[in-house]
Amino acid sequence: MKAWLDHVGVAVRDIGEALAFYRDALGLEVEGTEDVASQRIRAHFVRTGDSALELLEGTAADSPITKYVEKRGPGLHHVTLRVEDISAALTQLKSRAVRLIDEQPRPGAEGALVAFIHPSAAHGVLVELKQAPTATPKREPGAPTFMAPNVEAQRVQRFTCGDFELVSLYDGFLRLDGGSMFGVVPRTRWSARVPSDDGHRILLAMRPLLVRGEKTVLIDGGLGDKEDERFHDIYGVERGRHLDHALAEADIAPEDVDIVIATHLHFDHAGGFTRRNASGAVTPRFPRARYVVRRAEWDDATHPHEWNKASYLADNFVPLAEAGLLDVVEDDQVITRGVRVERTAGHTAGHQSVWIESGRQRAVFVGDLIPTVAHLPEPWIMSYDLYPVDTRASKKRLLSAVEATDALVFFEHDPSIAAARLRVHEGKRIATPEPSNPEPLNP
Ligand SMILES: [Zn+2]
Ligand SMILES: [Zn+2]
Repeated sequence: MKAWLDHVGVAVRDIGEALAFYRDALGLEVEGTEDVASQRIRAHFVRTGDSALELLEGTAADSPITKYVEKRGPGLHHVTLRVEDISAALTQLKSRAVRLIDEQPRPGAEGALVAFIHPSAAHGVLVELKQAPTATPKREPGAPTFMAPNVEAQRVQRFTCGDFELVSLYDGFLRLDGGSMFGVVPRTRWSARVPSDDGHRILLAMRPLLVRGEKTVLIDGGLGDKEDERFHDIYGVERGRHLDHALAEADIAPEDVDIVIATHLHFDHAGGFTRRNASGAVTPRFPRARYVVRRAEWDDATHPHEWNKASYLADNFVPLAEAGLLDVVEDDQVITRGVRVERTAGHTAGHQSVWIESGRQRAVFVGDLIPTVAHLPEPWIMSYDLYPVDTRASKKRLLSAVEATDALVFFEHDPSIAAARLRVHEGKRIATPEPSNPEPLNP
C-alpha cells in the first residue's frame, strides 16, 4: 500500500490561543475554520507544504476532543495517512489481523472517506486513513463547478425480494445537461426539483444490480474503465469508487457471475462488460458469464446510425460475441428462475427492463426507461430517447404493472435513491425510498 502524510491532528483547549502560536508566532498559513457538528469539534487546517496540521477544539463537553484534552491535556491527537483505495487498505489490514476502529470506510469532511486504526495496533498512535474525494474531472478556471457526489451512492445497498437478495452496486457518476435529461420539461420546472450545477448539469449515478439466488445475475455493468480523460471530461465522469469496489463490498468475484443481462448497450450500461488487459486487448470482464442481450438492441448497437453512434462503443460488446459468451434473446422471457426480461422500448428500440419475482414479491430494474425518481411523471422523458412516444407507452404499461404488484423499483441513474416503492396520491406518483438491509441476507 502507498500512503502519504495528509495531516497531523493536534487537540487544543482553545483554537484562538493555539492560533496565536501557529499562525502569529510561526507565521504559517491558516485555512478557514470548519465545524464538524456530528463530532462536536471545530477545526482549523494549517498548511505545511503538501501536508498540514489540524488544530482541533471540542465544542461540547461530550466531544471526543474535549474528553481527550481533559484526560491527557492538549497535544498530538492523530496522524492521517492518505491512501489511494481505502477499502483495499482496510482489506489488507484485516487480513493481517490489525485491530481497527472502523471496519468500513465512513464519510469524512469534504467528500473524503475515512477509517481509524486502533492505537493499540499502531504503537500508541491513533491513525486515520483517508481516501481523498477523487478525481473530479479537470476544469478550466471559470468553468462550471460540480456538485459533489452522494456518499450513499458509493456504498452497496442490500434489499430482499422473496428468496432473492438484490444488491444495488455502483460505478461512479456522470453529469449530463439537465435539459437533455428532461426533454420537453422546461428548466423552470425541472430545476425546481433536481439540483444542477452552474453549467446546468445534473448528477447521475450508475448503479448496476446484482441478483443473488440460485444463480448470480448482474444487470448492467456501468461505464467501466476503458475510456480516457477526454471522455471523462465531456461526461463529467467521476469513478473514485467504482464497480470493483462495489463487487468487493458485495463479496463477489468476477468468476462468480453466471449471467449478465443488458437493459441496452449504451456505454454507461455496457462499459463494464469488458475490460482492457495489460497487453491492450479487450476481454469480457466476467469470464464465466453468459451475456444476455436483446436481438433488436444487438442489431442497433452493431449497426449504429448518426443518431445513436456516440452511445454505442464496439469495445463494450463485440468482444463478448468473439469470446462466445453472447446470448441474443428474441422475446420477453424468463432468463433464469425468477428473473424475466420485458421489452420497454423507447429509449432505444430494444431496451428491456428486468423483473425479479419470488413468491408474491416483485422487483423491477427499469434501466433508462425511468432513469431517476424525477422521471416518474409520464412526460418527463429524456431527449436522448430515440422513440419518446414509445417511452411514454412503455412507462405507462410498466408503472401500472408496478402498482398492481407493489413491486420495488430500482432506479439505475438516481444519485440518491437506489430503490423505491410507488403509490399514487392525488394523481401524482410518490416514491418512498426503500430502506436497505443492514446485513447480508445469508452471511
Ligand atoms: Zn441509455
Ligand atoms: Zn443511461
